[in-house]
Amino acid sequence: MTRTHKSVILAKRPKDNIIPGETFKLVSDNPTPSASDLKDGEVLFETNYLSIDPAMRGWLNDTRSYIPPVKIGEIMRSGAIGTVKASKSSKFPVGSYATATAGWTEYKILKDTELQRVVVPKGGRLTDGLSVLGMTGLTAYFGIIDVGKVKAGDFVVVSGAAGATGSVVGQIAKLKGATVLGIAGSSDKVRWLKEELGFDDALNYKDKDFAKKFRAATKHLIDVYFDNVGGEILDMALSRAKPHARFVMCGGISQYNTSNPQGPKNYLMIVSMRIRMEGFIVFDYAKEYPRALKDLAQWLSEGKIKRKETIIKGGLDQAENALRDLYNGVNTGKLLVEVKPAEEQ
Ligand code: NDP
Repeated sequence: MTRTHKSVILAKRPKDNIIPGETFKLVSDNPTPSASDLKDGEVLFETNYLSIDPAMRGWLNDTRSYIPPVKIGEIMRSGAIGTVKASKSSKFPVGSYATATAGWTEYKILKDTELQRVVVPKGGRLTDGLSVLGMTGLTAYFGIIDVGKVKAGDFVVVSGAAGATGSVVGQIAKLKGATVLGIAGSSDKVRWLKEELGFDDALNYKDKDFAKKFRAATKHLIDVYFDNVGGEILDMALSRAKPHARFVMCGGISQYNTSNPQGPKNYLMIVSMRIRMEGFIVFDYAKEYPRALKDLAQWLSEGKIKRKETIIKGGLDQAENALRDLYNGVNTGKLLVEVKPAEEQ
């Protein structure tokens, strides 16, 4: 009897929010490949964990971007960490772990050139390959160091601070001698940032008097603003920028689920304060990943970078819910879906 496995495809592009039962479709009867289906240089990848990323909403839009949109009927694109179950590659023997853009599927045949080996550093765990030692850690690293050019004495404000990227941004800024204010969406997240990650200060943007608290907390004005969310918080940050402040434009999650995203109202501050506002995409730094991964792995093993994961169990069926919940702030640290738990090496 043919074995089957699940995958999730894009069924219809959403206009604004992802619509349950309409945007994605779960397909349960894909025939599962076996070792005899592999060509030279290929492996059979079994998904253990999926990376759930805010950018995924953008990949559903048929617009010009840094990456082509996911096509209708195609498996939803996603980073994943998985186990090599069958192999015709000398680089990835059976049982080895790897990351790949495998998508929302339980199994996939991949070329070995599409896989990155996962090396768990001392003090690390397998899933770090999708967070601190994966795309979000790299984004934090290049964003705050190469784009933000953070230095000792800077006052850094980071939005989305309790997320996978923001939490690492703040800790790297601290390691570089900056003072750091984090902005996040709950009192528990604020506590985590201050008490466990060592942020100098943190504020809950959902508090009624947030605007007042933000003004007070930024009275000495901002040197570097690391933006993950856009919207009103970006406007507030613009109003508190120091002359020649650096604004690192990493993302704008508050504007992802609308067909009518809004830019900053306070944009004239860019002129009057001579702000350098620069967007970046982490893939631009691909050649320099080894340098960043060396530093990040060292900081992780020395306990200088701490991290959390929010892991949603229940398999591939939970991927869509997890993505919708990401925009409601369900996660502290990296959001992952467990498709099949892996035994760590
Ligand atoms: P996170 O782990 O930070 O998760 C997203 C968080 O955003 C949620 O937990 C939620 O936390 C917060 N959020 C959701 N809606 C809003 C809102 N309306 N206003 C303010 N905060 C909101 O995700 P990532 O670390 O993966 O991504 C962070 C940002 O970095 C995103 O904008 C993403 O697109 C961007 N990114 C950019 C890359 C690049 O190359 N430029 C690469 C990777 C990521 P809370 O409870 O605090 O609201």
